[in-house]
Amino acid sequence: MTDRTLNFQSGDSSSSKTVYRASWVCPVDQPPIENGFVEVNKEGSDRRTISNVGTFANYNGPSESVVDLGDGAIIPGLINAHTHLEFSDLPRPLGRPGIRFTDWIRLIVESRHASNQDSPAKKAEAIKQGIAQSVKSGVVAIGEICTAPFVLNDYVSDAPVSMLHFLEQLGSDQAVLADKRSELTEHLSANQRDSNGQVQSTFGASPHAPYSCHSNLVQQICQIAANQNSIVAMHLAETKEERELLDSSSGDFVELLKNFGVWNPENFGPQRSILSTLQTLSACDALIIHGNYLDDVELDFIAQHRDRMKIVFCPRTHDFFRHDQYPIKKIVQRGIGLSLGTDSLASNPDLRMFEELKQVAKTFPQLATQQILEMGTINGASAMGLESKLGTLTVGKSAAIGFVEQNELDPAKQVDQWLLATTSTCRRIEI
Ligand SMILES: [Zn+2]
Repeated sequence: MTDRTLNFQSGDSSSSKTVYRASWVCPVDQPPIENGFVEVNKEGSDRRTISNVGTFANYNGPSESVVDLGDGAIIPGLINAHTHLEFSDLPRPLGRPGIRFTDWIRLIVESRHASNQDSPAKKAEAIKQGIAQSVKSGVVAIGEICTAPFVLNDYVSDAPVSMLHFLEQLGSDQAVLADKRSELTEHLSANQRDSNGQVQSTFGASPHAPYSCHSNLVQQICQIAANQNSIVAMHLAETKEERELLDSSSGDFVELLKNFGVWNPENFGPQRSILSTLQTLSACDALIIHGNYLDDVELDFIAQHRDRMKIVFCPRTHDFFRHDQYPIKKIVQRGIGLSLGTDSLASNPDLRMFEELKQVAKTFPQLATQQILEMGTINGASAMGLESKLGTLTVGKSAAIGFVEQNELDPAKQVDQWLLATTSTCRRIEI
């Protein structure tokens, strides 16, 4: 469907506000509005903000132009809270669905060698492809796990997208601590200040996972991040095999780490557990990536620290690995902030965030559409410290807007009956 422009007064170049009208508007911070509009203030070239939201029949503001998007729903731009853009040039996920996790890690390592993905130009190109694909499908902010050497220029694009760069660090030996300390301190010191002197938290830290990080490295990263007021993202409780490694120092991961020549038995033992890792993470603002196999005690701990600790679920990647059913009900019941991510193209066919929302709707039909929409928008914005600018269609927030449409739309249906249906698609509205 193409955008139709009504009442467009082409002769008036002083126009500073545009009204986007659609059969539905889902602001997320209030109930859906039938035949609604979102007004955008375009005054000043750098920041375009939402200046009004409501029912189109009641709109009487000074609109120079109205863009009628037709049948569909205007929603806040989507937040992809977890991905690894450097894999965005992979043509398809690595391995078959249901692959053993440690075999998949072997394929990741092989793929990096085979495609020489560490080549700076190739990495930069993959990142650019990933950003373009994300933005096209309605994404306005990305929680990106980036690897050293980090090159900010790789992420510079014309696309208006907020990036939070979590620097990935790993190492099973304490000998890496000094180097990792200076690497992370430098990364986080790049946090820039906006014109009001406010730190824009665009740089974060990521201890990769318990199986790849020495416990002292995780601790060091959390201390540095806490001092710098930066967010930490860590893969945790992703597989049963990870639990087995931490619970009994046995299983697939021992074999994998031995194969890679990085098995360090002193790093695993009674002192090391998912819960002890959570305790370390609770020193700072932390995103638990996946959390597929968190038990009740661990979920209770996160719930007790829910102002600082949140969980990111990657629905299609979860499906790719054929994990046990995600503990979504337990997470939601405890009031833990749950946001969504695509993870990378090594375990997902594309970076279309909206497909993640649809996957949640398909897998958990008992969840309300509004609840799933919150996971893909405001919850992700909160997880990334961007809730004052993104995540809802609210006056004063950035005009970062998505539009959901579907060909078989029945006008008699309420928006929550079709928004996340399999035939719905999402695109970003260019403001
Ligand atoms: Zn990941």
